[in-house]
Amino acid sequence: MLLYDHEFIIESCAGVQQGDPLGPLYFCCGIMSLVNEIQALNPVYNKWYMDDGGIIGDVDLLKKVWELIKTRGPPMGLHLNPSKCEWSWLDPDCSAPCPIRLEDVAEENQVKLVPHSEIQMLGVPLGSDAFVSDFVEKKLLGRLLSTVTRLVDFEDSQAATYLLRVSYSIVRAVHFMRSTPLHQWHKHAVKFDSMIRDAIEKILGFPMSDVSYAQACLTPKLGGLGLRKTAEHANLAYQASWHESRKTARETWSLPPGMPERVLSQKEASYQFDEKMHAHLVSISNVREAQRLRRCAQPHASSFVTAVPCDDDGKETIMKPRIFRIAVAYRLGIPLLKEEIPCPLCKQTINQFGDHATCCARNGDLIIRHNTQRNFIEYLASIGCLSPVLEKKGILGPTSGRRPGDVTFMRWAQGKGLCIDVAVTCPLISSQVTLAEPCEEYAARQKHGKYDESFIGTDFFFSAIVWETLGAVNSEGEEVLRQIFRFAAKQLGCEFSSFCGRAWARISCSLQTSVAQEILNRIDGREFLDALSPAP
Ligand SMILES: [Zn+2]
Repeated sequence: MLLYDHEFIIESCAGVQQGDPLGPLYFCCGIMSLVNEIQALNPVYNKWYMDDGGIIGDVDLLKKVWELIKTRGPPMGLHLNPSKCEWSWLDPDCSAPCPIRLEDVAEENQVKLVPHSEIQMLGVPLGSDAFVSDFVEKKLLGRLLSTVTRLVDFEDSQAATYLLRVSYSIVRAVHFMRSTPLHQWHKHAVKFDSMIRDAIEKILGFPMSDVSYAQACLTPKLGGLGLRKTAEHANLAYQASWHESRKTARETWSLPPGMPERVLSQKEASYQFDEKMHAHLVSISNVREAQRLRRCAQPHASSFVTAVPCDDDGKETIMKPRIFRIAVAYRLGIPLLKEEIPCPLCKQTINQFGDHATCCARNGDLIIRHNTQRNFIEYLASIGCLSPVLEKKGILGPTSGRRPGDVTFMRWAQGKGLCIDVAVTCPLISSQVTLAEPCEEYAARQKHGKYDESFIGTDFFFSAIVWETLGAVNSEGEEVLRQIFRFAAKQLGCEFSSFCGRAWARISCSLQTSVAQEILNRIDGREFLDALSPAP
């Protein structure tokens, strides 16, 4: 709830949150003295997460705690709700009733006696292995199938993929990954992972080999779709969480079996796992696949995967389902065709993965792709008040006939203008597939090699922005784009890093849309037919 008129004052005086983001902090400060009073009674354990406290001690001590909370709580806004309180005996064999009984109160409103095997705290099951397993199964898998089925039925592949990654995949399991040792719920983790794999294959409309799926599981930064497997990352998360908790508690905890002495943070450990997996995938691949894996793990190449599909700032990030599926398949090395075919426009060979289609010079697709990228740069530059000029004539003298400036700014730096030349190259075709950095080599040879000398003594700097069809961009291009984004963000009064992230997303989506369209224009609706037709 947001109230803008400041007409009412809503006091945050009871309960934890009450719509106030700082409420939890105030609440904890408010009950701190009570927690300290309980501590003064010397319980074995006394830890609180806001209004959820756990206290361990003998029966007399716990009865005193009960009285303390009952009398000291209400003045500070903490009202005991006995039916939400639980009592457990730490001796599993003890069957005595709960020592706290309230008079004249119905049974369902009494303090609950929870058996030792069913103890849970803060949503973490701590009881028997069987209880933990059932608990995780219910919470993790309970409604997953129905929600994921709804996603699969969603006709927008891009939005469904996005939602699967950010809301329904591993994020659902993080709570258990960090709080519950994997061996207690391993089979549910495996089931969970297979449900997610099933969902993404149905959303994208093509099955994946184990190797392709291993790539899909990587973080987008390393060329994946960010669908990490819980079974592969749960131990890393649990170990990181255990060490962080020990540090926060400032207590002496001895290492449980299998717990390493030192660990990385969950984020670092998971990234390291993904890096090793990426290196492994590269090592078992042929030349084309290794190049594909390396190049789609370059900075910004994943921006179309992480882009929020939203048209608030233009249509670029909305990718049609067929386009999106082709773009993802191209990234993951999924065969689009049963076998290679001749290009319907020029008769050169299009291989199973669509190579050649991404660089076929017939019918103007390359020009459309080039101009789309060029126009986006011009558009952002005009927002940034850089007065861009398209295809400016006469930069290298009135007679040269050469036009190196796709986009030209009359004022850029040090009193000089800037000519930008834009290009897109395919890192997977035979002349590029063995190059370490195709976009850098292309910029150096095809652009600077051709033009640098001619720019000496002119009023312009010269820059080349070269993309690869898998989304990487040369470092000079990245720098120039970042500078243009900076100008645009300033003029719009936007925060730079969020504007910049969005600009990369838009530019990446528009590039991948062009590339996927080129492939579709040449394979004529034959995509994935082989994969989807039933085996003979
Ligand atoms: Zn062709």
